[in-house]
Amino acid sequence: MITVICRPIRAILFVLVLFSIFVMLGVAPAQLSRPPATPPLQYSPQLVVEIKKVQQAALESDYAYRQLAHLSNNIGPRLSGSPQAQAAVEYVAAELRKLGLDVKLEKVMVPHWVRGEETAALTDYPSMAPNTTQKIVLTALGGSVPTPADGLVAEVVVVNNFDELQALGRDRVAGKIVLFNAKFDQQLADNGFAGPAYGQAVIYRGIGASAAARLGAVAALNRSAGGADYRLPHTGALRYADDAPKIPAAAVAAEDADLIAHLASEGKVKMRLVLTPQTLPDAVSYNVIGDLKGSEHSEQVVIVSGHLDSWDLGRGAIDDGAGVVVAMQAAQLLRQLKLRPKRTLRVIAWMNEENGTRGAQAYAKDYQSDFANHFAAIETDLGAGHPLGFNAQGKPELLTLLQPLAVILQSQGAGVTRMVEETGTDVEPLGAAGVPTFSPIQDSRTYFNYHHTAADTLDKVNPRELQENCALVAALAYTLASMPQFLPR
Ligand SMILES: [Zn+2]
Repeated sequence: MITVICRPIRAILFVLVLFSIFVMLGVAPAQLSRPPATPPLQYSPQLVVEIKKVQQAALESDYAYRQLAHLSNNIGPRLSGSPQAQAAVEYVAAELRKLGLDVKLEKVMVPHWVRGEETAALTDYPSMAPNTTQKIVLTALGGSVPTPADGLVAEVVVVNNFDELQALGRDRVAGKIVLFNAKFDQQLADNGFAGPAYGQAVIYRGIGASAAARLGAVAALNRSAGGADYRLPHTGALRYADDAPKIPAAAVAAEDADLIAHLASEGKVKMRLVLTPQTLPDAVSYNVIGDLKGSEHSEQVVIVSGHLDSWDLGRGAIDDGAGVVVAMQAAQLLRQLKLRPKRTLRVIAWMNEENGTRGAQAYAKDYQSDFANHFAAIETDLGAGHPLGFNAQGKPELLTLLQPLAVILQSQGAGVTRMVEETGTDVEPLGAAGVPTFSPIQDSRTYFNYHHTAADTLDKVNPRELQENCALVAALAYTLASMPQFLPR
């Protein structure tokens, strides 16, 4: 027992001796054990108050939701080149002018693809009842060439990936319809990685048709790149390669992909496929750009943005009406609160993100010489689910410089910050040029259930969560446009 008593005494003596040495040396003990702590970065009390005002006003505003209702319900789907896309350009420009912004329409030539008839049925399969068919739910991929007007009939071969396609070889693919049956990984999406889950599946939509065509296929189908169980096909753009014939392509509902795979495992399956889309000459359209001039460094620009075009099946509420109205609201809040940031806040409603990214390309071309003055850019394009914080692309120091903002955002459950390799399609050219770019980190577990389907409608946006996104993006935009520090690049 005696040693037990002695040990603490010895320890205390040791600490006392060490401490007196530290005092003699004139240093505090903590300084010997770790490097000098840099004081945490702080914003001025005034800036903190202003950021909180912006955040609070957003959480109480219905401006963004009303704008989204108009875009989704009154204007509707806004595919590039469509009359609705033009109406949306004019509407957003007028609304930004109402806010007192300096508004420009910047011309972009966009692809003009128009959906036609799209029907399919299985006309021959194992144990088929006489004089019947099985209807297949599908939708043409954006950019697809048509089948003959009365359709084509061919056997369907099912593969799960590109390796299986190559293994079949030309002999077993030529003259047939190839179905890429790659499943969307909903569990990955549920775990917070909806983007990567989409990326894995969407590759077959993007380049599957050309891969099949190189082996002589007459049409290509892909299992819809998305979740949900309501027999909804998900459209989206395809990219024909230059070295392959262009063949018609469509996305089938997940349930119908399962049906075809099941029947094909038992024997021969034949399909009649009718797709009659048209590709018209490129059309004139516009990026809508609205500037709220900065008070001190008006030449420096902070972009806040979403894309105005949408697919034609639904009404473009989550993709990406939500992103556009969140950007509009950032400017609206600053007007409402009579706040004028040092730098210029630039609202951009991009055109043609979905099937060409011509808007982003045109902006990059026109403004390349001014990228040094592009302080930062934000894009929202993953719906309007509860935001958990924000993504940053650029130097990791960005997160340190924005930590005081993250502390404020934590009050709404949005204090997470992380570095990513890509924030948004339209701001990607800016990011590649070194401009720091940002996007909200959103709860996207259900986003790909509706994305690019007929069910992308206003009801899929929760008004409260839209307010949370507005609060996050407006606070981030205001901070970037007001902070005294420069961002590293
Ligand atoms: Zn989008």
